[in-house]
Amino acid sequence: MSESVGIMGGTFDPIHFGHLAAAEEARIRLRLARVIFVPNGQPPHKRGYVPAPAARRYDMVVLATASNPAFEASRVEIDRSGPSYAVDTVETIGRQLGPDTRLYFIAGVDAVRQFVTWQSPERLVETCEIIAVSRPGYSPRDLDRALPSHLREHVHTLRIPAFGISSRRLRQRAAAGESLRYLTPQAVARYIAAHRLYSKC
Ligand code: ATP
Ligand code: MG
Repeated sequence: MSESVGIMGGTFDPIHFGHLAAAEEARIRLRLARVIFVPNGQPPHKRGYVPAPAARRYDMVVLATASNPAFEASRVEIDRSGPSYAVDTVETIGRQLGPDTRLYFIAGVDAVRQFVTWQSPERLVETCEIIAVSRPGYSPRDLDRALPSHLREHVHTLRIPAFGISSRRLRQRAAAGESLRYLTPQAVARYIAAHRLYSKC
């Protein structure tokens, strides 16, 4: 029997409840057997700041996803050298899971808005459908303007519980010594404190 699997890529610097809620909502609505979180090795779209080491970001994804049996963390991007592209990741995971698995790439509307600038978007939609989850501050209607129809038709919008939070904001709070409680799982907050990850943001 064929099953559906979600792939959620991101820098996850650090992972927070916005990411986890998006994955869980996609899992429920699309009846996904599981969601694979893939931290970027060398994020191609992040300029102007140096992310925490990939191994640290991966550890935080493992900690954050441990309590959900349908969630898992993948090292596919962090073990690869060079920039991380969704198309390579989805193709690699697709080869691992075989042709009977339907793949969905989950990303926020803010990210999908930039879809035309991603590496080989046409090739990506041959392998998976894109789930654009809602995010406070971004309108799903922007997608109609930003995307040509041959890409737009592979993008499905999904309204999720709103979390007006970002990793950037969490890094700023950590740098200021402010609490991350209720923004990310406690295990992640403890890991950040123990390793002083964002002390000089
Ligand atoms: P940063 O502030 O560093 O850009 P971020 O919070 O946007 O971090 P990313 O790792 O860049 O997190 O995002 C990974 C994916 O999760 C992206 O597709 C992004 O759109 C989505 N995402 C992040 N935060 C939210 C949120 N609060 N609600 C919905 N989607 C989100
Ligand atoms: Mg982002």
